[in-house]
Amino acid sequence: MKMTKKVIVITGASSGIGEATAKLLASQGNQIVLGARRESKLQEIVKTITAAGGEATYASTDVSNLGSVKGLAQKALDTYGRIDVWMNNAGLMPQSEFSQGRVEDWDRMIDVNIRGVLYGINASLDTMRKQQSGQYINTSSIAAHVAGPGSGVYSATKAAVLSISESLRQEEAQAGSNIRVTVVSPGAIATELTDSITDEATKAGTKQFYDQFAIAPERIAETIAFAINAPADTALNEIIIRPAKQV
Ligand code: NDP
Repeated sequence: MKMTKKVIVITGASSGIGEATAKLLASQGNQIVLGARRESKLQEIVKTITAAGGEATYASTDVSNLGSVKGLAQKALDTYGRIDVWMNNAGLMPQSEFSQGRVEDWDRMIDVNIRGVLYGINASLDTMRKQQSGQYINTSSIAAHVAGPGSGVYSATKAAVLSISESLRQEEAQAGSNIRVTVVSPGAIATELTDSITDEATKAGTKQFYDQFAIAPERIAETIAFAINAPADTALNEIIIRPAKQV
């Protein structure tokens, strides 16, 4: 597979899947722009990448704020002059059953998991259209395909990522803009995601499940790199990837 140097923006890059993907793609010679709220984590990751001879920068970003996401896009343009790949990856999973009425958690998931993706598209689509090339990597979840007790709102936000991505894919294919859209739908991955659960019983149960099954975020990073490095005339549209032992 031919690897061309690309400018790649990643949201939710301060830990887990985003961090692992940033590091792998930087090691392949790409220029990475990291976005998340925890600036000290981003600084640390940029330092690690540059110490290994890679190129990276960051902008402190809250994906639930359009101005902040536009700032991340501007950082990429000011530093590297283009945006080849935009990875909408920031996400939260504070699951709980509806009867608990954790409305704040529902709102946070809608703000980050749905609005964050829309704002990422809004902040970068004009640039990709002008370039006549680009790619979105949108992180959904297996939860988009299977809902269960406690996962209703999270599953709905991740199903929204599938719908948004599919419409975007068709619009860009129709427009002949050479913009590819890839959705990655992971199963249990060992990251900080379960820390966002506010209901202690749900958190304990989910952590127990993760301790048993979860695979490393590097597995997802390798898959994303494969989708990015695929020939320009070929689009991997959805990749479902889960631990081999996850039912
Ligand atoms: P992590 O908790 O490790 O990473 C989540 C990232 O999102 C962090 O970098 C966090 O950074 C960022 N984030 C959260 N809120 C915001 C915000 N308002 N603005 C900007 N960034 C934000 O978990 P994962 O790596 O697992 O999660 C990455 C994606 O993968 C998520 O979309 C998640 O839903 C999805 N996913 C994960 C699975 C898993 O099992 N781990 C399975 C399926 C999908 P900061 O706090 O610094 O802002």
